[in-house]
Amino acid sequence: MAELVYQSARREAKKLLDNCWDGSYPVRLRPFNDELNAEAYAADLGNKLSGVVSKASGQPAKIVLNSRHVDRRNRFTWAHELGHVVERRELAQDDDYSFEELSRGQDYDLHEFFADEFAGSLLMPKDKIEELQRWNYSPIDMAEFFDVSVDAVEKRLKRLTRHPK
Ligand SMILES: [Zn+2]
Repeated sequence: MAELVYQSARREAKKLLDNCWDGSYPVRLRPFNDELNAEAYAADLGNKLSGVVSKASGQPAKIVLNSRHVDRRNRFTWAHELGHVVERRELAQDDDYSFEELSRGQDYDLHEFFADEFAGSLLMPKDKIEELQRWNYSPIDMAEFFDVSVDAVEKRLKRLTRHPK
């Protein structure tokens, strides 16, 4: 049976964590940029976009985060864009692409689903979530711990409930 999208997203996130993460929290994203040949910086993207990733053949992937948004939100967007980079590189062998994240009302397709599942798995590893749950951490406490928004924690918890394995 073909691997489901959420499974491959989780597998790719775990692979990256295993390869180049020092095990400390909050998970730092900079080392993954190096590993994936990506660059990330912030710029004023206006009100409609939260992030962009683009790649030209043979060039590093360029991730742009919105300088109008708070750091925690940008961390998730950054991880989401890395999800697009991984999906294109590892699963589609595509070297020339671009994705835009709308601040709201995003068209939600399998690429976006993959990128979100990947970002959640990268920033909030399942084992740690389960440990924090045993310690009775609230979503607000978890957001503090993982340095992401409460909204991102709640989405991650929902996804883990829907697809526990
Ligand atoms: Zn996206």
